[in-house]
Amino acid sequence: MKIAFIGLGAMGTPMARHLAKHHEVTVWNRTREKAERHAREHGTKVAADLAQCAAAEAIITILPTSREVDEVVEQLMPHLRKGTLWIDATSGDPNVSRETACRLAARGVAFVDAPVTGAVVGAENATLTIMIGGTAEDFEKAKKILEHNGKTIIHVGPVGAGHAIKVLTNSIMGATVWITSECLLVAKRYGIDIKTALAVTNAGSGRSNASENLLPMRLADHKWPLVFKLAHHDKDIRIAASIAHQQHASTPMLALTQQLFTASLNELGDQADYIEVAKIVAQMNGTSWE
Ligand code: NDP
Repeated sequence: MKIAFIGLGAMGTPMARHLAKHHEVTVWNRTREKAERHAREHGTKVAADLAQCAAAEAIITILPTSREVDEVVEQLMPHLRKGTLWIDATSGDPNVSRETACRLAARGVAFVDAPVTGAVVGAENATLTIMIGGTAEDFEKAKKILEHNGKTIIHVGPVGAGHAIKVLTNSIMGATVWITSECLLVAKRYGIDIKTALAVTNAGSGRSNASENLLPMRLADHKWPLVFKLAHHDKDIRIAASIAHQQHASTPMLALTQQLFTASLNELGDQADYIEVAKIVAQMNGTSWE
């Protein structure tokens, strides 16, 4: 199958590499040099220009936000062919996706939102979980392609549902990272060794992905790798809060989480990792994790 892959970032680069083992993959990236390197190293083809991506049977986007996806859709619109499937793996905004899907449908192009979870390591190992919004028929088509990127591929509902559940589940994770950091900081200030506090947490009901996998390396070993940009995580939580707002839902925890993450992003900057919010938790208490 001819696939056009747009967006060779931290996630897109390994995803396109896996797809190229099974399909004819043409890549396009804003910074062309990355596309050229991908072609050299992974046997993909570089699109001469964005318009060339329209020749593919399926177009996959994985860009920072729905805004960039929309820009690409606009530029490709005059070139698109009837029967193409557009798979947007960005963690995007479900409201924007629904509008995008309508615009594409007018040109006979089907759209599914197919955000992913599992981090860069999941993209590297093709073990992502992929949540898809779209019709049952489009889901089946997208699944056939994305099964080279993920082990668990779930149809969650109509267009937009994939993006909605993705940002909601990331918000759960954000709130968990924050509260776990707060409680571990209090334990530390109480004089309890941080490794002991983590061990007890992980043996009991406070256990989570945050306490087991995300926080120990940072809080105990003081290693703060850039795994997932806080800017992306903040964007996800803001979208989740906007969905709640739209529903007139009362979600004070979600609202607070959004405020805390946005304040952290303003403090830490665009290149910070999402778990660096734990540094802000310490900073708010006039201390650090050292
Ligand atoms: P990166 O920041 O690593 O890459 C972003 C990509 O988008 C790059 O290819 C970049 O091109 C391109 N891009 C940025 N702006 C534009 C633009 N205006 N027009 C065209 N292309 C543009 O992002 P990730 O790969 O980390 O994340 C992509 C999406 O996946 C996000 O929505 C994120 O929330 C989600 N996600 C990320 C995970 C992670 O662990 N990183 C995990 C799960 C989901 P260029 O090379 O020129 O900068």
